[in-house]
Amino acid sequence: MTFHIMIIPTLSCPSNCSYCWGSVKNAEVMDIEIVEAISQWLNGFRDEPVHFTFHGGEPLLAGYDFFSKALPILKSHDCDDGECFQSDKGYVDAGFSLQSNLWLLDEKLADLFSQYDIAISTSIDGPKQINDYQRGVGYFDKTMKNYKMAVEHGLKISFICTFTSYSKDFYEEIYNFFLENEYNIKLHAALPSLRDSNADEWALRGEEHGQLLINLLDKYLKDLDKFEIKDFDHLAKSYFRRRGTLCTFADCMGDTLAVGHDGNIYPCYRFVGMDEYVMGNVKDKPSMNELKSSEPWKKLMEFKDFVDEDCKDCSYIKFCRGGCPYNGIVANDGEIAVDPQCTAYKMIFKDISKKANKEFKNSATLMFKKSSNSKNEEDNGFTIMDLMMKR
Ligand code: SF4
Ligand code: SF4
Repeated sequence: MTFHIMIIPTLSCPSNCSYCWGSVKNAEVMDIEIVEAISQWLNGFRDEPVHFTFHGGEPLLAGYDFFSKALPILKSHDCDDGECFQSDKGYVDAGFSLQSNLWLLDEKLADLFSQYDIAISTSIDGPKQINDYQRGVGYFDKTMKNYKMAVEHGLKISFICTFTSYSKDFYEEIYNFFLENEYNIKLHAALPSLRDSNADEWALRGEEHGQLLINLLDKYLKDLDKFEIKDFDHLAKSYFRRRGTLCTFADCMGDTLAVGHDGNIYPCYRFVGMDEYVMGNVKDKPSMNELKSSEPWKKLMEFKDFVDEDCKDCSYIKFCRGGCPYNGIVANDGEIAVDPQCTAYKMIFKDISKKANKEFKNSATLMFKKSSNSKNEEDNGFTIMDLMMKR
């Protein structure tokens, strides 16, 4: 199992997307000493390999100088007299990823990221007109221009497509945009925030979200060999393995931690900047046990117990686990509750379950078919089992 550290160099962002709750104007930027402190804190912290994700706000605001120093420090784990090396007490790094709108990406940064094999996710919400309506005029062109440059530098880039109460009505147009361009995507639903009530009018309600997922899955089952919608790959795997493979559908607490610009440690990037969710600071090198004694840890662990009780009669509890605790807390004025997207999760898990049962009935041997050959004869599409088997 990989342990996940999200590094948030700043909460600022040069973009001004209408539904975004994650950015803060003129926020401070992480100093390289904090990266050194992260690396030192992680030495001996846990046995599992560590995957680092740079997130924001917009992480590229930290600049080339920051990344050219931060990456060797995090990769090498120990430095002495300016020389970096992997020490015995160090941790095993499981790689890097970055989430960025790419506006500030230049050739130098692209070369650096390529050298460290950084997987990048960037946000585009569909064709230019729809994207710019919700993300601001000019966003699409700025991101796509640097996307092309990044690909020329050998970087692997996938897209995050956020559906809002507005864009849900254009789901076919949006789906076709990603399909025709063969862009791999992850889906996001615009949701309310603890920090910004502006996000509410764009938020998708549970039923809308659930129906959107069902509609998109129906389309995707005809195009599995053309591009990826990663969420469905995970949902199918979760359903068959009876355990969530995305943080939203697993007991996330403890396997992901986020570090803000000042070294404060939070349960996840979504809580960064909220004083009441600070669990410690990397400069103090807190142990796992010390983090476990913090109030935010205790509060999020209560979520696990709450789900065990509140969702005990739900057929999907093993691979839903109450959804995202942040979503639940936001919806319940800071108090523990299950994710209000419960309705959406039930709808899509029910749909997957119905489809999978039909497949089992149609062919007792389907389980043993090779995924590349297992086209569904009824509608010339693929099956849930194909989705589950997808690498
Ligand atoms: S709080 Fe939500 S977004 Fe954060 S790690 Fe947990 S499930 Fe994922
Ligand atoms: S679908 Fe709803 S009731 Fe079932 S486990 Fe998830 S949050 Fe709980």
